[in-house]
Amino acid sequence: MLKERLLERLEELYPEMVSLRRYFHQNPELSFQEVHTPNTIADYLEELGIEVRRGVGGRGVVGTLHGTKPGKTVAIRADFDALPIQEETKCDYQSKVPGVMHACGHDGHTASLLVLAKALSEEREQLAGKIVFIHQHAEEVTPGGAIEMIADGCLDGVDVIFGTHLWSTSPYGEIGYRSGAIMAAADSFEINIQGKGGHGASPHETVDSIVVASSYVQSVQQIISRNIDPLKSAVISFGAFQSGGPFNVIADSAKLIGTVRTFEEEVQEDIIAKLERHAKGICDAAGASYSFDYRKGYPAVINHADETQLVKQQAINIIGKDNVREMEPVMGGEDFAYYLQEIPGAFFFTGAGNAEKGIVFPHHHPKFDIDERAMLLAAKILASVTLQYLEKGAVVTSS
Ligand code: MN
Repeated sequence: MLKERLLERLEELYPEMVSLRRYFHQNPELSFQEVHTPNTIADYLEELGIEVRRGVGGRGVVGTLHGTKPGKTVAIRADFDALPIQEETKCDYQSKVPGVMHACGHDGHTASLLVLAKALSEEREQLAGKIVFIHQHAEEVTPGGAIEMIADGCLDGVDVIFGTHLWSTSPYGEIGYRSGAIMAAADSFEINIQGKGGHGASPHETVDSIVVASSYVQSVQQIISRNIDPLKSAVISFGAFQSGGPFNVIADSAKLIGTVRTFEEEVQEDIIAKLERHAKGICDAAGASYSFDYRKGYPAVINHADETQLVKQQAINIIGKDNVREMEPVMGGEDFAYYLQEIPGAFFFTGAGNAEKGIVFPHHHPKFDIDERAMLLAAKILASVTLQYLEKGAVVTSS
């Protein structure tokens, strides 16, 4: 059968997956600066006889594999940018670029998807429909590559999209799925409070910006506890409170920086409005003024129910139900969110940690690494999901 043959072929091609990953690992490129990586990807896909579009949305690469029979179109996405981190692993395929490192596993996503494209391209005679390989630049830095690639048509004619993140904080061999919100909207904000400075001995002649900003920090703690539905989750955290000078001077101004994490747009909008309302109320009462700057990051990643069910089922077929877990949502962000706002699909986590091998560091850590076998598992599940979707012509609605 086609599926069995494909899974076996992926096993055979595993060494190539490893060497591709190590090559990308040694040659990382920062978000919105990728040149060599997308060229390497595009050349590889072209060699397979896959139709390639370069420079999609700036730096992305889209490969389209045409089956010989008509059918649905499935997209699979992998991101390929690295991070401004100095690698501290001792591995022999360390980054050759000082201060730049694949510390989130995007090298593994890319290698996994390229080899999957190779295995699928060998079976094109058997395929009904099309498979679109979306190799995305700049996931790590907002506005991110996804939104630009979508604007440039990477989802045109696509029925469904799937993607995975190799996840070092889950053990290799485990798959995490979740229907609905799986990753949060991750936003930032900055508030500058302008008071009136003066002598520490004469507070009545000043507007003490430290007191006003302190009230503000306390006051907004009530937004989550008193205003947000207790069955919904959200976070407001301050990362910085900057103000002050000498011991006997009342500070003229104070700057607060923080982050907001939410899973629903309604909750997010409510928090934005209340953050500003508290600033206005507190500053008005104190006679201070303020500026409020809120920056939305990626929206929450919201998985579609039927497609999540399909991932779960195929993952169970491959590694057994004890290794396929419904996971708690992650408070981090991902621009895969934008694809799921356009078309149905699902994003899942592929465990890539291994305590015995010392692969225990979280994402974005200078000692981050992955158990490379996770790439093979990810490719197998994505292969199986893709074939299942194409064979059925559409996802069967779950009960
Ligand atoms: Mn990532």
